[in-house]
Amino acid sequence: MIIDYHLHSKYSVDGRMSIEEACKNAIMEGIGEIAFTDHIDLDWPDPDLTFNISDIDQYINEIDEMRRKYRGQLIIKTGIEVGMQPQVLDETSDIVNNYPFDFVIASVHIVKGMDPYRREYYKGKTKEESYRLYYEETLELINEFSDFDVLGHLGYVRRYSPLPYEQGEDLLCFDLIEEILKTLIENGKGIEVNTSGYKHSSNCPMPSFKIIERYRELGGTIITIGSDAHSVEDIGFGFEAGLEIIKKSGFDSITSFNSRMQRSIPI
Ligand SMILES: [Zn+2]
Ligand SMILES: [Zn+2]
Repeated sequence: MIIDYHLHSKYSVDGRMSIEEACKNAIMEGIGEIAFTDHIDLDWPDPDLTFNISDIDQYINEIDEMRRKYRGQLIIKTGIEVGMQPQVLDETSDIVNNYPFDFVIASVHIVKGMDPYRREYYKGKTKEESYRLYYEETLELINEFSDFDVLGHLGYVRRYSPLPYEQGEDLLCFDLIEEILKTLIENGKGIEVNTSGYKHSSNCPMPSFKIIERYRELGGTIITIGSDAHSVEDIGFGFEAGLEIIKKSGFDSITSFNSRMQRSIPI
């Protein structure tokens, strides 16, 4: 069964599909299970943007309604993508623990108050420095925060870097990447394979093959796949290649979640 565990609806400021549009399109694409993972990213540095679900109860109710409506056609999970920053971890934990989520992705979208989506982040840094700062921040944050199931799109800086992608760049700072993987495994956390990376000139998921393979070699067992779709045409995007890489890395199943409890789905 194909499952897409990273979807943004209009409950995210950058989402362009309704919950129901996403469900209908997933069914048309032959996807068996999806998780909505709208943003809860507190204290966003740009005051004009709010990456936060304005009414979480309404979000959960709407997903519940679609679950009932499409029962037998599509399994629908209630997830969130929380953004980690040092100053928001306690408040984020409260949100995660106060609502009945099935699945939680934790991602780093803001590094030391800077947004790697913007060019300023890369100013005055070598390519390696732009990655190192992001990986160091990620490592620190996952040592402090544990209210999540998988780490989102590891290697995110690549997505918006203005510097042209070079072969092997995905493995820069591999020492830090290994530390991140070991910490995740020790804490019983997984990684997601984010196939939006196939839209980028690197033409590989985040994280890339060697990193997924290393996670497996180190003993990691929890892995999800997600398109990070913000509009209907991207649901399930890049899954054929993504699943191939997951298998090549030594996995014969991926992970689904129900009320934060994991289950293996053979691939
Ligand atoms: Zn994200
Ligand atoms: Zn996302």
